[in-house]
Amino acid sequence: MYQQPQPLEKYLGVELDCDCGRRHYVPIRAVEIGSGVLDTLPAYVQRFAYRRPYILCDEITWKIAGQRCAEALTGAGIEPYTHVLQHTGFDEATLGEIVVSVPGDADLMIGVGTGSITDMTRYSSFRLGLPCFTIATGAPMDGFAASVGIMNVGGLKKTMPAHCTELIIGDTDILKNAPYRMTVAGFGDLIGKVTCLNDWKLARIINGEHYCANIVALTENCLDSVLKKAPRIAERDPEVLGSVMEGLVLSGAAISLYGSSRPASGAEHHMSHFWEVVNEERGTQGAMHGEQVAVGTVLVLMLAEALKKTAVDFDAARAIAKSFDEAAWEQEIHRCYGSAAQEVLDLEKKARKNAVPERLERIDRIEAHWNEILKQLETLPKAGELQSLLRKVGSPCTPAEIGIDRALLRDTLFYAKETRDRYTLLQLVYDLGLTEKLSAQIIERAFEP
Ligand SMILES: [Zn+2]
Ligand SMILES: [Zn+2]
Repeated sequence: MYQQPQPLEKYLGVELDCDCGRRHYVPIRAVEIGSGVLDTLPAYVQRFAYRRPYILCDEITWKIAGQRCAEALTGAGIEPYTHVLQHTGFDEATLGEIVVSVPGDADLMIGVGTGSITDMTRYSSFRLGLPCFTIATGAPMDGFAASVGIMNVGGLKKTMPAHCTELIIGDTDILKNAPYRMTVAGFGDLIGKVTCLNDWKLARIINGEHYCANIVALTENCLDSVLKKAPRIAERDPEVLGSVMEGLVLSGAAISLYGSSRPASGAEHHMSHFWEVVNEERGTQGAMHGEQVAVGTVLVLMLAEALKKTAVDFDAARAIAKSFDEAAWEQEIHRCYGSAAQEVLDLEKKARKNAVPERLERIDRIEAHWNEILKQLETLPKAGELQSLLRKVGSPCTPAEIGIDRALLRDTLFYAKETRDRYTLLQLVYDLGLTEKLSAQIIERAFEP
């Protein structure tokens, strides 16, 4: 594995032995981002020796890019099949439509779209044993380079095994015409790397969790370059849109390189997952994933600032840990998670995040490493600065702007951590028995006029 961050293509399709002890590999074979790169599609189909590509799009993405893909392929002597989808959800209906319609001699699937079409193409091609390409018409989140798929099965969100796309094309001439809100959401998803990498570093200090400094450096390097260009996002500068797209691809590739979403998802994502569950329960439409992540990132930074200013009483933390009332906690999980509560309770049986002996051990380690933890928190940007950057770009940056009220924010700070088995700042604050105290401060700050 490279000791210095390299351009994205250096990580594609090569096995990299790393001093973290793991071998990193991402099976994506090529990524093209830039002006006019849609024209490279036929050359890739030929280079990878495919003959009958099957293009999947919906009515909108057909007009934006699907038709051009088909024409470019035909012009190069390749006969593509095309299918305009009637279903475009992350669900069984879409999967069924794809599986039923795919011709028997198709040897490649090409998904043209943003989230659901490209993801469902990845997932269905995996089920059909066919390779796939991704043509992005917008960059709303970091799923393009992922190796798993999220799907609604029987009304429940499930992470399904899938495979990586072989080629990602992000033509900035197309991306610049994507709805601006979508671009901003993509930027918000990237911003989340600030707090998720911090969570990984905390987990390494407190739990000795496995950690890859090279993947962290790679992600931080890309985040820095996007942050520098961020003020120009509002101008829809194609170069900046290309950087956001590349950042999202790289962040997705980091998930595949590492083999889990640790490099891309921390407390800010747990908040977004939690809000999605709540919206599902209430039957309300939530904000876009990246918008939620942007707000979550600001909230996690506020929490870090509040924690730094608090004089921690470790003995008080131990007393609070010992007085844990499991029945009361379970009731709260039912209240917050509704029909999804059982999944959370099952997860806790395995994860034991709240179990008293484990928590007491962590408090000992937190106390022993307290200065190191504070030093790590010092490296974070200021919540206020990130908020004004998001505002400048036109992104939501407060809970109220994405429909989160005070009561839901309080529940978020207490229970969003239960969505996953992953150590984050939310769990650290909880371990120290400070959630009640700090959440009151965060709610005041986040809702100040
Ligand atoms: Zn995300
Ligand atoms: Zn490594």
